[in-house]
Amino acid sequence: MNMHSIRPEIQTAIDTTVVPADKTFGKAVLPVMVAAEFDGGNWSDLEVKLDSEHMVSAGSTAVQYAQSIFEGMKAYRVEQDTPQIFRPDDHAARFNRSADRMCMPHVPADMFKRAVNLITEVYADFIPRETNSSLYVRPAMYGTDYSLTITPSERYSFTVHVAPTVPFSLDMKSVLIERENTRAAVGGTGGVKAAGNYAASFISLRRAQALGCATSLWLDPIEHRYIEELSLMNFFYVKDGKLITPELQSSFLPGLTRSSIMKMAEYFNIETVEESIDVNALIADVQNGAIIEAFSSGTAAVISPIKAFKEADGTEVIFGTEPGPITSKLRAALVDIQEGRAEDVFGWMKFIK
Ligand SMILES: *Cc1c(COP(=O)(O)O)cnc(C)c1O
Repeated sequence: MNMHSIRPEIQTAIDTTVVPADKTFGKAVLPVMVAAEFDGGNWSDLEVKLDSEHMVSAGSTAVQYAQSIFEGMKAYRVEQDTPQIFRPDDHAARFNRSADRMCMPHVPADMFKRAVNLITEVYADFIPRETNSSLYVRPAMYGTDYSLTITPSERYSFTVHVAPTVPFSLDMKSVLIERENTRAAVGGTGGVKAAGNYAASFISLRRAQALGCATSLWLDPIEHRYIEELSLMNFFYVKDGKLITPELQSSFLPGLTRSSIMKMAEYFNIETVEESIDVNALIADVQNGAIIEAFSSGTAAVISPIKAFKEADGTEVIFGTEPGPITSKLRAALVDIQEGRAEDVFGWMKFIK
């Protein structure tokens, strides 16, 4: 039982939800969501409603000026009787860091977690239960003022959508080294989940896909030489038994999967190094056989092994054609915690009561 009464027509919509057949990541967004409105300095109560009854004006600050942020998190119900959410407090904290950067009000952590729990509870029976499946949860906030003045909105919507997701392909992926475009600047918005960052990366995604790559590898915005991250994931490689990842910069995102991996590596006595990584030196090390293992990390795929780095002219360097041993070990350990097979020694999973 939750404190929120659900209108009968909404309960009917929930009960009769038809989940789209294509449940690849992010596609099967369900019709009912949770929403709250910010006006006059206060948040309304959370409401369970249909996406189709939620109004956002075409003249809103969000649409006209991209004053919009989001989070991406997951609810799991594989071995668990009731759903569990991965690191909700940390997602709430990052959401409010994004809000600060974009001059938006905070969503109190308690309200953020109640909203996530509520929509997860509403759709608990729609969470796929096979391994590597989950309910992707998408909190977002955006300015709703009907105004063309170039100032922060005074009114906002906070919404939480969900999308059941089936196993992400664990195939080895190739990645395009993006040597031309820049995703985000130092001092810009790359370090937060601001909506506009993602639109800015689409041009590179198109080029990557045309070359048979899954995504792009972004380099630093000043010299185009040091590795930052992939479009939705952080980057790791293994050398001499050490796990190496780029040192955080204001231009790219501090992933929670990244920090989870670093915690697990410490637990397994795998030395972890955060440093600046020159892409050309890394390529030379792959060519001379010193590096045979690289992967990306993020909520969507958890850990995704990288097969190769490709250049725009089609030439590539191959790390390996099978996931490496450290990649596989860390992936299995994290997924076992998320899916309820292993003890949650780090306290990352929160049950929904
Ligand atoms: C969300 C995101 C990540 C991964 O963060 P997680 O907390 O691990 O999901 C990495 N890079 C970008 C640009 C992102 O938006």
